[in-house]
Amino acid sequence: MTAIKSPAAAPADPAPSSPLFSTFARANVAFERGEGAWLTASDGSRWLDFGAGIAVNALGHAHPHLVEALKAQAEKLWHVSNVFEIPEQERLAQRLVDASFADKVFFTNSGAEALECAIKTARRFHYAAGRPERYRIITFEGAFHGRTLATIAAGGQKKYLEGFGPVVEGFDQVPFGDHEALKAAVGPETAAILIEPIQGEGGIRPVPAVCLKGLRELCDREGILLIFDEVQTGIGRTGKLFAHEWSGVSPDILASAKGLGGGFPVGACLATESAASGMVAGVHGTTFGGNPLAMAVGNAVLDVALAPGFLEHVREIGLRLKQGLAQVVDHHPTVFETVRGEGLMLGLKCKVPSGDVVNALRAETMIGIGAGDNVVRLLPPLIVGEDEVREAVRRIEAAASRIEAAQSAGKA
Ligand SMILES: *Cc1c(COP(=O)(O)O)cnc(C)c1O
Repeated sequence: MTAIKSPAAAPADPAPSSPLFSTFARANVAFERGEGAWLTASDGSRWLDFGAGIAVNALGHAHPHLVEALKAQAEKLWHVSNVFEIPEQERLAQRLVDASFADKVFFTNSGAEALECAIKTARRFHYAAGRPERYRIITFEGAFHGRTLATIAAGGQKKYLEGFGPVVEGFDQVPFGDHEALKAAVGPETAAILIEPIQGEGGIRPVPAVCLKGLRELCDREGILLIFDEVQTGIGRTGKLFAHEWSGVSPDILASAKGLGGGFPVGACLATESAASGMVAGVHGTTFGGNPLAMAVGNAVLDVALAPGFLEHVREIGLRLKQGLAQVVDHHPTVFETVRGEGLMLGLKCKVPSGDVVNALRAETMIGIGAGDNVVRLLPPLIVGEDEVREAVRRIEAAASRIEAAQSAGKA
């Protein structure tokens, strides 16, 4: 006899019939297809996508070049083990190396795994150099580095650590922008400093170039490694291939993901030859990382992102959007405080709860993404055009007007 589940035992879940873990508070909309910056939902409604899957669909939905690359690879070869050579993987690594500070690349399936690799690479660098006591990594308040046990420890956010047992050892967190606390945190056990050049989940909080320079000098002086988490900021999002290029400062190790696969799961840990020196045969691995399907799509993303004019487009259209948003802030001073960010990684700091703004945008069938520090992020596909930027500004104005109408109804 099958056991009958007692309804009383069911949790208070907005979708109690869902067989999925309840870890996401999902909006009640499902999308069926997409094209560029537009999504079509199952009810036929058309949505303007200024979230791009949280900075993932860098080339928008159904980009013909990516579709073609994935289809062509699907007909040839899906998967081989990393115990064999994977030419497309070598090619993507070489292109990333040629376009960046790095000499070496390890491919993963996600951002968190790219960070895991970055953390292990930094610890292993010191171990291989005879300094096994240097394993601690300094991180910053408001950071987000993923949801694995090590990356929640690195991010240091209580809400993500609570209830998951002992916190992975070896992370020291300092307040964002507190130079004295940072200097005090560096000790004989410090292996590396890990930072997002622009905090994404933390609310589009850019680290000034002078601070990144200061970090580089501190690391060089103390013999420790600098790790940039560019999972969200990378692959053209800010108008450079990697956001740190704006500062003129290079890291020793970098984590990339999100935009790198344009929607196909792929991440990468990039490092200098020296920083990667501890990562020898057998010390790290992955089953799926660098698989031929992912590599075909990653190479196709770079075909477009590295083509002449692409990053200029991101800078120009990003400036347009930022100007439009600045006007929206001017027009709606009770809803918005300011706009910040770089390229197409922009945030509206709100005066009302940012969740209300995300919901008001949804009422206008537009997607924006909530973040920390009461910010709504606007992360459109990098191929977004002027008409779409104008339409986005119009919808954000309309959303703000909805909120103002509710405000004055509340006062009446
Ligand atoms: C999204 C993100 C991660 C985690 O990536 P996943 O693919 O979700 O594991 C790490 N760091 C930053 C800055 C991110 O934005």
